[in-house]
Amino acid sequence: MTQYDYDLFVIGAGSGGVRASRVASSHGAKVAVAEEYRVGGTCVIRGCVPKKLFVYASHFAEEFEEAAGFGWQVGEARFDWKTLLANKDREIDRLNGIYIRNLNNSGVEIIESRAVLKDAHTVYLAGEDRDVTAERILIAVGATPYLPDIPGIEYAISSNEAFHLEELPKRIVVAGGGYIAVEFAGIFNGLGVEVTQLYRGPLFMRGFDDDLRDTLAEEMRKKGVDLRMDCDITAIEKQDNGELHLKLSNGDTIHTDAVMYATGRVPKTDGLGLDRAGVQLGDNGEILVDEYSQTNVDSIYAVGDVTDRAALTPVAIREGQAFAETVYADKPLTVDHSIIPTAVFSQPELGTVGLTETEARKAHGEVDIYKTSFRPMKGTLSGSEEKTFMKLIVHPETDKVLGVHIVGPASGEMIQALGIAVSMGATKAQFDATIAVHPTAAEELVTMKQKWVPPAQAAE
Ligand SMILES: Cc1cc2nc3c(=O)[nH]c(=O)nc-3n(C[C@H](O)[C@H](O)[C@H](O)COP(=O)(O)OP(=O)(O)OC[C@H]3O[C@@H](n4cnc5c(N)ncnc54)[C@H](O)[C@@H]3O)c2cc1C
Repeated sequence: MTQYDYDLFVIGAGSGGVRASRVASSHGAKVAVAEEYRVGGTCVIRGCVPKKLFVYASHFAEEFEEAAGFGWQVGEARFDWKTLLANKDREIDRLNGIYIRNLNNSGVEIIESRAVLKDAHTVYLAGEDRDVTAERILIAVGATPYLPDIPGIEYAISSNEAFHLEELPKRIVVAGGGYIAVEFAGIFNGLGVEVTQLYRGPLFMRGFDDDLRDTLAEEMRKKGVDLRMDCDITAIEKQDNGELHLKLSNGDTIHTDAVMYATGRVPKTDGLGLDRAGVQLGDNGEILVDEYSQTNVDSIYAVGDVTDRAALTPVAIREGQAFAETVYADKPLTVDHSIIPTAVFSQPELGTVGLTETEARKAHGEVDIYKTSFRPMKGTLSGSEEKTFMKLIVHPETDKVLGVHIVGPASGEMIQALGIAVSMGATKAQFDATIAVHPTAAEELVTMKQKWVPPAQAAE
């Protein structure tokens, strides 16, 4: 029998890789994990966690303003970017330490090095210039920001650098229309930066329910983000005084201090040696896997963003867990990617689960829509004109709630619980039979009685 150095070698100590390593080790496998940057991966080091800390920071300006209506007099408020960065870095260091300790305590060997494949059982550790062998290899290298190849792109930053800016710019242009773009537009806007957000299509947040996209655009504009659709940057020129001049596809020019690209992320498969091992890739460079996260090469598996199934931390963790349970506990487990509750920490926040109206109509033909838009109670004294929006999509025959979409404070928190109901196949009648929690915004979810009728039909 062939002797390998390890039972399992994991490349990438992010959300998926760490979970898989620990679970495999707990079932008795000899495991090593290679990490080329920092243990914890994107989510902990330069994704979900620092992003959410920035979101919290950016909310205060609005809250100070709103406090006046409730009788508070807040003195002159000043914001110090360097304090936020230092405190954020301290928290990230703490979490990084916890991840390292957890791996150590689970008996997983951590190797601080870039790792690439040599063949189906061999990994080359670039930092140590040596090979190791393993019975199985798990690729959990995540994804990396995509920046287009336009003149002057070297002056642009991505989310990676946005977490470490020396100074907070006075003006920034955020290019992109996905969740990272809207989140950062909201963060910078809340911190007092003049924000322009550009999206090349007619309406940003593609893939989300159209009502959510419209409502978010309207609310972000009300908060002062200069949101421009149907326009893209064609070139970036740096002036002697450091100012950036952006040429736009519509002929306009924007003068700014910084430009951040959030135009998608690509699987980090470049230079990983996948061709040497014979691993098949999809059109976007993603690793193709079956429902057990196994590639076309029997000994090689892949989980998380590198497989481009659903680029979210809880999904990567679930895939890592399922892989390890399947292979090392003989408990075949797959991950259901069909219903994934998710939040976007834009301002206002989004929460969404299940089908969008467009998807539901495509899958089921006619569907019943319930929706409401209102000014939440807090706005009555704070003076905020921000609207909360909620929408239920219901199957007309089975009465099943196919999708729930929310814009407004705490919608991320609400959608976690709604995700349980929707995953269980709850019906509209069951929503209606649930007693409301009063006074909350969420009570609207169980008190929407009137089906929405398109304006043209209503006028008939
Ligand atoms: C700005 C931002 C905000 C986000 N916010 C959220 C959010 O709010 N909620 C959410 O669910 N998700 C969020 N995500 C997505 C989330 O971070 C990812 O889905 C998740 O981290 C994927 O986990 P993973 O294990 O696939 O990869 P990662 O966590 O990216 O881990 C991959 C690891 O592999 C390492 N690596 C890569 N190549 C090699 C190599 N050759 N050798 C050794 N090591 C290597 C990398 O350094 C990295 O540490 C966000 C992402 C970003 C960028």
